[in-house]
Amino acid sequence: MNNCIFCRIVAGEIPAALVHSDERVIAFRDVTPQAPVHVLVVPRRHVGSLLDLASDDRGEDAALAVALFAVAAQVVRVEGLADVARGFRLVINTGPEGGQSVPHLHLHVLGGRRLAWPPG
Ligand code: AMP
Repeated sequence: MNNCIFCRIVAGEIPAALVHSDERVIAFRDVTPQAPVHVLVVPRRHVGSLLDLASDDRGEDAALAVALFAVAAQVVRVEGLADVARGFRLVINTGPEGGQSVPHLHLHVLGGRRLAWPPG
């Protein structure tokens, strides 16, 4: 998907502040942070949204889902949000009503301030 902004970041065509990179997943700082910590966890492979992951719980997509959550947890620890007195939020915006603006699956890791609920 050469017109996908996150595919272009994966390919190194657009710069990003990387905080993690492995064979399946990259993580980088959101360019418009909504909290002191705002990191996006992104599969290297183009996956349009959560709904494009296969439901087979033993296939490659299942492994990818586990990898995405594992990287999110690692980001939480490295960014200092794992302390019991702190906390964080993982968000997967999906579709127009869910507020998804980039059609490439990503987890937002948000923290570093008290986060309001419900979201807007
Ligand atoms: P969403 O609205 O849930 O699809 O999230 C997309 C996120 O990508 C937004 O928070 C944007 O600020 C962020 N974003 C868009 N372009 C870039 C970029 N080039 N580098 C880092 N973050 C970006």
